[in-house]
Amino acid sequence: MNQSLGPVSLLGVRVDDVTMDEAVAAISGWLAVGGAHHVVTVNPEFVMAAQHDASFADVLRRSDLAVPDGIGLQLAARWTGQRLRSRVPGVELCERLAQLSQRHGWRLFLLGAGPGIAQATAAVLERRFPGVMIAGCLAGSPRVEDEPALRDAILAARPDILLVAFGAPAQDLWIARNQPLLQVPVAIGVGGTFDYLSGNVVRAPRWMRRLGLEWLFRLVRQPWRWRRIWTAVVRFPIAMHRQGR
Ligand code: UDP
Repeated sequence: MNQSLGPVSLLGVRVDDVTMDEAVAAISGWLAVGGAHHVVTVNPEFVMAAQHDASFADVLRRSDLAVPDGIGLQLAARWTGQRLRSRVPGVELCERLAQLSQRHGWRLFLLGAGPGIAQATAAVLERRFPGVMIAGCLAGSPRVEDEPALRDAILAARPDILLVAFGAPAQDLWIARNQPLLQVPVAIGVGGTFDYLSGNVVRAPRWMRRLGLEWLFRLVRQPWRWRRIWTAVVRFPIAMHRQGR
């Protein structure tokens, strides 16, 4: 799987060179065969976190699909003579899956985000994609002691796709710990996606995203996130530069 999708390596972290259509096709294939797959939405912060967090690095390595979420990875790939043809933002991936749920009856479970946000996201998806199958939505928590109750709720809902929005690395460590017991065909760590889809947080306008300036928009709107933005926009390029081409 990973080989055929032409992975690139950024500071030792694998990112698969997939377009949105290819990512959706891979997910659709897994839904047809079943099993327990893990999709990660990699951004520069993931790459930096993996440098000093061996268990997160291992979870990323063992993921079934690592989609490139953001222009920073594309630029870094190009700088090292590799290629990521496209970006696959988590928000847009979720929108596509909701659209396909509407068509194929795929059952989505929304786990994570602040109180009421998963429910608000479900309501928005039901309005935008009438007939979308929402198997369940829960804010939950990434705490280990809460895992058994969350697993019971998810198992009872029998989803095809589990979207986990606890932020990285918590969401992907959560999936890695729980997928063997859940056996949901596809689980995806989706970060702040529910905040965007529900309208709780406004996404940067398209022109800013296209120019790779989403970070600037976030810095102005959510200045308290400056440390994370610094990691993505300054520390990551410096680390890439240090590593050399
Ligand atoms: N979150 C959560 N439980 C936690 C920590 C975070 O549900 O204990 C949620 C948070 O509310 C947000 C998401 O995880 O919806 C992470 O969003 P963030 O903007 O940090 O993610 P990004 O997309 O930037 O990785």
